[in-house]
Amino acid sequence: MSKLQLGLNFDKRGGYMKTTSGVMPQNVVKYVAMGTKLINLVLLICHIGFGILFWLYDAHVLFAYNCVNSLAFLFACIMLHKKKKWTYIITIYLGIFIFMILAVLYLGWDYGFQQYCIGFVASFVFTDFYMSRERKFSRFTKFIVAFDIILYVGLRLWTYEHPYIYFIDNKSLVSFFYISNSLIGFSFLIMYLCIYSSTVHRLENSLTEMANLDPLTGISNRRKMQQMLKYVMEEYETQQYQTVIAMIDIDYFKKINDTYGHDAGDEVLVMLAKILRDKHEENESFHVSRWGGEEFLVFYERHQKSREEVIQEFDALRQKIQDTVIQYNQSNINITVTIGLAFYEKGETIHSLIKVADKNLYEGKNAGRNRVVS
Ligand code: GH3
Ligand code: MG
Ligand code: MG
Repeated sequence: MSKLQLGLNFDKRGGYMKTTSGVMPQNVVKYVAMGTKLINLVLLICHIGFGILFWLYDAHVLFAYNCVNSLAFLFACIMLHKKKKWTYIITIYLGIFIFMILAVLYLGWDYGFQQYCIGFVASFVFTDFYMSRERKFSRFTKFIVAFDIILYVGLRLWTYEHPYIYFIDNKSLVSFFYISNSLIGFSFLIMYLCIYSSTVHRLENSLTEMANLDPLTGISNRRKMQQMLKYVMEEYETQQYQTVIAMIDIDYFKKINDTYGHDAGDEVLVMLAKILRDKHEENESFHVSRWGGEEFLVFYERHQKSREEVIQEFDALRQKIQDTVIQYNQSNINITVTIGLAFYEKGETIHSLIKVADKNLYEGKNAGRNRVVS
C-alpha cells in the first residue's frame, strides 16, 4: 500500500487531510459513539432489572425512585441525541447519586451500590490528572471528591446508627447486585473517558483545520500544500507519474483592490478559489491551494494526459475564469489570470518544479498576461 493511501486522505476542499499521524484516527469517533451506546444499553438493562427486583422484593421506595430515574435516563438519552453532552452527563450522574444514597440507606452496604462513588471519583480524577495539560484537578473535581468522601463517611455513620429498611433473603441475589454494581461503577469511568476523548478529538480536528486551511477561501493553505507535495514527491522518487504544477496569479489584482476596494478583492479571491475547488470536485487529482496573496498553486498529479491535453485543460480553466462575472455590490468584476506550468520529470524536486512554474508565470506576465505558459 502506498504512503498516500496509508497516511493521507483527500478532503473536500481540494487537498489532503493528514490524520495527524494517527493520534486520533477517524474511526475512534465511531468507537466512542459505540462505547456510549453500549453503556446506555447497560444502564437501560440495569433500570429494568433493578426495577423488577425492587418490585419483587417489595422495596417500594427504591422501585418508585427507579421509575423516576428511568424517566431521567430517557431525558438524558434525548439530550445526548441533541449533542448536549453535559446535560446528559449531569442528569445521569445526579440520578445515580441519588439512587446510590437511597439504595445504601434502604439496603445497606452488601449490595455494592457504594461502588458508584468510587466510579465517579476515579473518572473525574483520571480525566483531570492524565488528560489535562496542567496535570492538576479542576475545582469541579475537587468538589466531587470532597462531596464523595463526606457522603461516604456520612452514610457510614448514618447506617451505623440506623437499621436497614429492606432485606433481601437471597445470598446469590445479593452477590449478583454486588458484582453488577461494581461493573456499573467501572462503566462510569469508561463512559466519562469516551465522552471526554470525543471532545478532545473534535477540538483536535478544528485545530488541524485551522492550521491547514486558508481562512478567507477555505481551500488548503501553503503549509498544507507544501506538506502534501513533500509526501507525494518522496514517493515519486521510486515511481514515475505524470504530474504538473501550476502557479496561477491574478492579473492586475492591485487595480481591482484600488478600484472596487479591498473587500471586493477578497470576494474575487473567494470566487477564484471556488472555481478551483469545483475543478477539484470534478477531478480528485487536481489539488488546489492558496499559495499566498493572489497566487494559487495547483498540483495536478497522476493524470493520464499528454502535455498538450494538460495545457488545453489549463487554458480552458483560464478561459472559464475570464468568462466568470463576479458581482460585488453593484459592480460586475471580471478578472484574468496568468498560469505558469511545470511538468514533472524524474529526478526533479518540489523546489525546482515550483521554480520552473514561477519562471513560466513571470514569462506569461511579461508577454501580456491572461495566458498559459509551459
Ligand atoms: P500582476 O498582473 O503583475 O500580477 O499585478 P498584480 O497587481 O496582480 O500584482 P501585485 O503583486 O503587484 O499585487 C498583488 C496585490 O494583491 C497586492 C496586495 O494588496 C493584494 N493582496 C494580497 N493578498 C490579498 C488579500 O488577501 N485580499 C486582497 N483584497 N488583496 C490582497
Ligand atoms: Mg497578480
Ligand atoms: Mg502575485
